[in-house]
Amino acid sequence: MPVRTRVAVVGAGPAGLLLSHLLGRHGIESVVVDSRSRAEIETTIRAGILEQGTVEILSGSGASDRVLTAGHRHEGIELRFGGEGHRIDFTGSVGRAVWLYPQHEVLKDLIAARLRAGQDLRFGVSAERVEGAETDRPRVLARDAGAPPSRSRPMSSSARTAPAAWSARRSRARTAAPSGSTRSPGSASCARRRPAPRS
Ligand SMILES: Cc1cc2nc3c(=O)[nH]c(=O)nc-3n(C[C@H](O)[C@H](O)[C@H](O)COP(=O)(O)OP(=O)(O)OC[C@H]3O[C@@H](n4cnc5c(N)ncnc54)[C@H](O)[C@@H]3O)c2cc1C
Repeated sequence: MPVRTRVAVVGAGPAGLLLSHLLGRHGIESVVVDSRSRAEIETTIRAGILEQGTVEILSGSGASDRVLTAGHRHEGIELRFGGEGHRIDFTGSVGRAVWLYPQHEVLKDLIAARLRAGQDLRFGVSAERVEGAETDRPRVLARDAGAPPSRSRPMSSSARTAPAAWSARRSRARTAAPSGSTRSPGSASCARRRPAPRS
């Protein structure tokens, strides 16, 4: 069954979640899908340093106050080679700083902000392809992340006025929302599709 939305965002990384957050602040609803689970997203260690502009967007947009309280501000870095340290003074030279604040903490903050705003986040859902990108009825076709790529007919979207719509096929046997969905099974209009039996 199709899910209608203004903007379909593929990927609940920093880019997708922050985009969804900023759209929401301007009254534009979105659906974010990610093939990974929420737990995986919130525990994968990646980046650790945030530039000042990122910190300003996160705190200024209401996405994260923790970056200012739990993050550590660094006014420069020291490169050590040739037996001595060479300090690069960010604040002294350009009036800027960086923050030590792990990326997965940023993602926790952004996911929490999206949920507080009642936005639709769906984990364990993999986008397969975009159809009709040049039309006024574009669709993102998605499937359960564990299911194999499908060749069967996509569901049609009735999102005539929506710039983007995300469709997923309904399972014969199961109509619950994808695992990790923030919607109750009863209200979710996206359904998981069972993997095809192996031959
Ligand atoms: C070890 C490491 C250290 C780093 N250190 C720093 C640092 O110190 N400072 C810094 O600024 N940057 C750092 N980076 C880079 C930073 O992590 C990336 O720039 C950032 O993650 C990019 O964010 P993104 O949202 O564009 O993509 P990603 O974080 O990659 O998120 C993309 C998301 O999309 C999902 N996805 C992909 N395809 C699909 C699909 N078809 N359907 C559904 N979901 C899909 C993925 O599961 C993923 O969750 C580091 C990266 C690594 C790996």
